[in-house]
Amino acid sequence: MGQLNANIVAVGDELLVGQVVDTNSSYLAAELTRMGVTVSYSLTVSDDLEVIQSAMVDGMDRCGLTLVTGGLGPTPDDLTREAAAALAGSSLTVNPKILNSLKDHFKTLGRTVPRGSEQVARVPGGFEILPNSKGTAPGLWHKGQNGSVVVLLPGVPHEMKAIFSDHVIPRIMQIKGRTEIVQRTLKAAGIGETVLQAEIESINHLLEPALRIAYLPGAYGVRVRLTISGRNAGERIDAAEQCIRAKLGTVIFGQDDDTLESVLGEMLRIRGMTIAVAESCTGGMVLNQLTNVSGSSRYVLGGVIAYSNQVKQHQLNVDADTLRQFGAVSEPAAVQMAEGVRACLGSDIGLSVTGIAGPSGGTADKPVGLVWIGYSDVHESWAVKHQFGLDRDRNKQKSVVAALNLVRHSLLKHSGHEQETE
Ligand code: ATP
Repeated sequence: MGQLNANIVAVGDELLVGQVVDTNSSYLAAELTRMGVTVSYSLTVSDDLEVIQSAMVDGMDRCGLTLVTGGLGPTPDDLTREAAAALAGSSLTVNPKILNSLKDHFKTLGRTVPRGSEQVARVPGGFEILPNSKGTAPGLWHKGQNGSVVVLLPGVPHEMKAIFSDHVIPRIMQIKGRTEIVQRTLKAAGIGETVLQAEIESINHLLEPALRIAYLPGAYGVRVRLTISGRNAGERIDAAEQCIRAKLGTVIFGQDDDTLESVLGEMLRIRGMTIAVAESCTGGMVLNQLTNVSGSSRYVLGGVIAYSNQVKQHQLNVDADTLRQFGAVSEPAAVQMAEGVRACLGSDIGLSVTGIAGPSGGTADKPVGLVWIGYSDVHESWAVKHQFGLDRDRNKQKSVVAALNLVRHSLLKHSGHEQETE
């Protein structure tokens, strides 16, 4: 079988009332997609026997694979195994092997099996057991008469993941056969989703029609996910990536697991350069982002959170006249903050952020969302103006991206790698 489509059913009232975020479905959807299984739909259902059963019946009618998570525990509201027995037209019987491993599990904890816990040893007829290396409730696998498969997994995320990767992935690969599917995610910063899409569409004639492109904007830039399946998928995705990179140039900062801070960190490390940050409206977020990278102490010296004018003046040496004449959110203030933090901490690069995050504090001259980002190194000092939107959190996040991206571009420019996009 080449094509396999799937659906995911997340069981639990706690998901429907918004108490627990359904991370299981997103994990399973990503894993299935990675394997080349098309996820047709995903449902969240309550702890109700009939509802769970009808989701399974529907799933098996429509898809070759139905993955159910949750409701396999020992408490009375855990009804997935009952629903499964009804689906298979069987009953639940205690499996001695599971019961024994349950007893062993509690024995190692110096306890006897708590009352009710033996429920997890009850298995619906017609289901195969998928051992759980991280907990007590095993996964269960059933192939219906139409060949469609339903898999039951515990709700606890790390148990669900263990059973899925140990037992479910190999079985899915067997059903599916090995169609080669390759995905690659290119990451862009400093460009909006719409412009990025238009740029890539302008080179459509250079890209093969079978290439699927998804645009995924997020707080820290836009991800462009490329998918190709079939023969020579690896080489074909390399060719597509080359075309897109040639078009977009240094707008693409990395791929797959790269982050802006990891890429920038590597550039600083290779050049043996250090950085220090002076932050006003971002309140430390730039430094936080930079230090998300393990080993960042090699190039991050530190920073000054200069929220008040006093701190800007006394810690960063920003001129009182500059503040009086131009204000704290201004080009000269941003430049002096960057120079000040570089001098104060003795770094190669000084980076600064000063802006009006909002929602209050804007004026006609300086509206909410106005942010100046300053840069200073041994050769030059300058600042760049941004006009973001009205949302405080987003303005702060965008400022962080813009600040890190500005240093990245500056380093590229100095080492002659900066290319103009076509
Ligand atoms: P248990 O043995 O703990 O009862 P279970 O298979 O019955 O396992 P649930 O009772 O449905 O699973 O959920 C157990 C816990 O796992 C929940 O409290 C919740 O924290 C987490 N959980 C359940 N479903 C999900 C989900 N879809 N996404 C993320 N976490 C989940």
